[in-house]
Amino acid sequence: MSFQALQQRLPMVRAWIDHVLAAHAGKARPVADCGFARLGSYYSGSLLASAHVIVVEHVPTPPLMALGLEGFTEFERMDAAGITYLSSFFVRAGYEDDESLHFHELVHVVQWQHLGPERFITAYALGHLLSGGYRTNPLEVMAYDLQSKFDRGAPAFDVATTVVAELERVVPPLFQRAFGPGV
Ligand SMILES: [Zn+2]
Repeated sequence: MSFQALQQRLPMVRAWIDHVLAAHAGKARPVADCGFARLGSYYSGSLLASAHVIVVEHVPTPPLMALGLEGFTEFERMDAAGITYLSSFFVRAGYEDDESLHFHELVHVVQWQHLGPERFITAYALGHLLSGGYRTNPLEVMAYDLQSKFDRGAPAFDVATTVVAELERVVPPLFQRAFGPGV
């Protein structure tokens, strides 16, 4: 499918996300209330208060194939431990005390906030398709690299500042490769 056709279908993905978040709103709670000791050394208090976590048996992934989006079979079928939509993320039951996973999903919250929903969804989809899969998607590479710094006990730093700089580096080339210069 063409990248233009992909982009035309993204509003349906956004509508699905809004529906899923509304359906789970009653179970969402602020990350700040989860009692994690280390997240505050890497994320602002306002981000931890505004980001919400929802614990579920299986994290919901958009029905991309049903929406006519091709090339996401791997993404749609994986039973991920976590997935982020806007400022909320779903965590699979059993991972609710996994601070490292929460750190990873918060990287995605920052990505969503900085890019805005439409640009995030487009960049994430392009990153997946152009890099050849989930784990090589630049937006995931960023999250996994920062998560491994967290896991190694890196001294306190502001993750949001790092993420914003990285997004400015990796996102424009994705759009240029897909849509040509001047996008
Ligand atoms: Zn991720």
